[in-house]
Amino acid sequence: MPDSRRRDGAETTDPRTTPRTVPDACPGAWRRHDAADGALARFRPVGGAVTGAELRVLADAAATGGSPLELTSRGSLQVRGLTAEGADRLAATLRALGGDGALLDAQGRDVPCSVVASPSGVLDDAARAVAGALRGRTDVPGRLLVALDDGARDVAALDGDVTVADGTLLLAGTPTDLTGDPAALALAAVEAFLEVRGSAWRVAEVGAERVAGALRACEHFGMPEHSEVLTWPEATSLDVTPRLGEIDAPTAAVLVDLADEGATLRVTPWRTVVLRDLADPDDALHRLAGLVETGPSPWSSLSACVGAPRCARSHTDVRGDLARAVAAGRAGGLLHAHWVGCARACGTPAGPVAVVEGTPGGTYRTIVRAGRVTP
Ligand code: SF4
Repeated sequence: MPDSRRRDGAETTDPRTTPRTVPDACPGAWRRHDAADGALARFRPVGGAVTGAELRVLADAAATGGSPLELTSRGSLQVRGLTAEGADRLAATLRALGGDGALLDAQGRDVPCSVVASPSGVLDDAARAVAGALRGRTDVPGRLLVALDDGARDVAALDGDVTVADGTLLLAGTPTDLTGDPAALALAAVEAFLEVRGSAWRVAEVGAERVAGALRACEHFGMPEHSEVLTWPEATSLDVTPRLGEIDAPTAAVLVDLADEGATLRVTPWRTVVLRDLADPDDALHRLAGLVETGPSPWSSLSACVGAPRCARSHTDVRGDLARAVAAGRAGGLLHAHWVGCARACGTPAGPVAVVEGTPGGTYRTIVRAGRVTP
């Protein structure tokens, strides 16, 4: 029997008490989601790093599909509106680009789950090591979130399934007494989860203690001590916010130009883009003005699902409604607000949030959540 019933009437079960009966179906480079506007392919940048060449390819494919390139709350990039052939072509083109930490490697393997890292970049090597070990694995659920935090407690706040923050392991947001090298510790924790997970998709479904127990029982468990020098070169970096995580063609063109001029690009789980190693940050700001938010903005605390017409379930054009609300000064406050077109509430971020939900009658209702349960 189902454990509960959703607000939209659909029956649901609590995955923490009822085993999953279907495998995780998160989209990736080769496995696409069939949406109302065509195939949706998702790419998981390693630690958020994306090259100018990759961004150019993704933005071109998104333009062909008729939608902006999308940032997700797990630091992924999404392309919508693809045909099956177009999606295959996109993956093959990215594969040909290759490179260390690429979206797809030379064998065409993508990273099966999200591997995010603090934007400072000091854990980039660790993120690449974790992603490299997981590439192409079919036993890793797409919902799994691995976060490597440099001590700033930025990605640690995402309550990932496996987090290493300043050398200490957290499982589903719960701190453990396990410490060590970030990459080795994260990988050992992922393996421990895979060993005990059964049909579960996420650590919270089997319990942090069980995963920690499996990790301690591992014969070879033993990690070198963690030591990192933290650097954050503010003077040559910018953190910009595309509205609703949408990178349209003009924005992508400027970002690609800046990358071609030597900047490094990183997308974040907060749907922002960090540009590092800029030759002239003021010039970059000038070129991005009007395309993205570069300072305090109501859009910084707003997100939305895709809504109508791109999602057939939506009761309304969520993003259009939100834009009108912002223009009228009725949206964008201290508490993060996530606008959605139906009770599914796709993409609701972790942590305190006001979910503004479209209803069949054309109005919205607001539900304030203290946090998010396992999806
Ligand atoms: S919340 Fe509803 S309307 Fe929005 S993307 Fe999900 S299913 Fe579609």
